[in-house]
Amino acid sequence: MTKSIGVIGIGIMGKGMALNLKKAGYEVYAYNRTKSKLAPLIEVGIHACDTPMEVATKTTTLLTCVSDTPDLLEVVEGPEGILQTLQPDSLLIDCSTILPSASVHVGELFEAKGSKALDAPVSGGSEGAEQGTLSIMVGGDAESFARAQPVLEIIGSNAVHVGKSGDGQRVKLVNQILVTVTTLGLSEALVFAQAAGLDLEKTLAAVSGGAASSWMLSNRGHQILNRDWSPGFTIELQQKDLRLVLDTARELQVPLLGASTVHDLYSTLLRSGCALEGNHALIKAVENLAGVKVAE
Ligand code: NAP
Repeated sequence: MTKSIGVIGIGIMGKGMALNLKKAGYEVYAYNRTKSKLAPLIEVGIHACDTPMEVATKTTTLLTCVSDTPDLLEVVEGPEGILQTLQPDSLLIDCSTILPSASVHVGELFEAKGSKALDAPVSGGSEGAEQGTLSIMVGGDAESFARAQPVLEIIGSNAVHVGKSGDGQRVKLVNQILVTVTTLGLSEALVFAQAAGLDLEKTLAAVSGGAASSWMLSNRGHQILNRDWSPGFTIELQQKDLRLVLDTARELQVPLLGASTVHDLYSTLLRSGCALEGNHALIKAVENLAGVKVAE
C-alpha cells in the first residue's frame, strides 16, 4: 500500500521536506496559506489541499512546519484546523520551532482525540531540508517516535528522541543559543580580519579546518564575503527563536549574555528593514558598531 502524508506549511523548510517525501514514494497532500507556493509541488504530483482540515481527511500522518506558536495553533485548532477533521490514531510530527508549552498543549489536544503528536523541530538550514539531512530533536512518547521513524529518516539524517513532549523544543532552544552565539563569533572574527587588512578568503580557508570550524562558518562564510544576504533562515524567524530562548531563560533564571546581545543586535537590523535577510546578515550590526565593512 502506498504510504501517505500531509505536509502543512510549504515555506523554505516545508518545501524541501515535501519534495523529499514525494521522491521517497509517499503520496503527499500539501497545504500552504499562500497558494502560489504550491505550484512547483503540484508539478511533481503532490496533491494540493485548500485547508489544514482537508489535509487531515486524506491521511493519518501529518507534518507541520509553520513560522511561530500562534501559526501552529491556528493550523491545529483554528476554524479550518487539523482537529476539525482529525481521524483516530493519527500522528502529528510538528517541525516548527515554537514555545515548548505550546507543544505540550498540542500533544494534549491530540491525546484527547485518540491521536498522538511529536514536537520535532529541526536544524540544518534550507540546505538540510533540500538534501534530507536535517538534525531533528524529538519530544513525545517512544512509541510515536518509533512510528515516525520512516518519515524522520527521509527528511533528516540525525533524529534523536530527546525526551517527553516539549523537550524537542527545549533542545531546539539549546541549538539556537549555539547557532546565534556562533554567528556573533563569525561576525566579529570577519570584522576583525577586515580591520587587520587580512585576505578574507585565505583567512576562512585557514580557520575552517581547526577548532573554530562550524556549520555557520562553512555554509555562510563565503555568502558573507559575497555580501549575499539571501536567506536560508530569515532574521525575522531567528529573532522569534531568540525570543523563545530568552523567555524560557527568564523562567529558568539563567543569564544568557551572548544570546541577549545577539537579540539586541538583530533588533537594530529589524529597525533598518532587514527582516527577510538571512541570519548571517548579523555581521551588518557588528560592522555598524566597528565602522568597518567586510569585503569592500
Ligand atoms: P518560511 O519560509 O517563512 O515559511 C513559513 C511557513 O509557515 C509558510 O509556509 C507560511 O505560509 C506558513 N505560515 C505562517 N503563518 C501561518 C499561519 N498563521 N497559518 C498557516 N500557515 C502559516 O519559514 P521556514 O524557514 O520554512 O521556517 C518554518 C519553521 O521551521 C519555523 O518555525 C522556523 O523557525 C523553523 N526552522 C527554519 C530553519 C531554516 O533554516 N529556514 C531551520 C530550522 C528550523 P505562507 O507561505 O502563506 O507565508
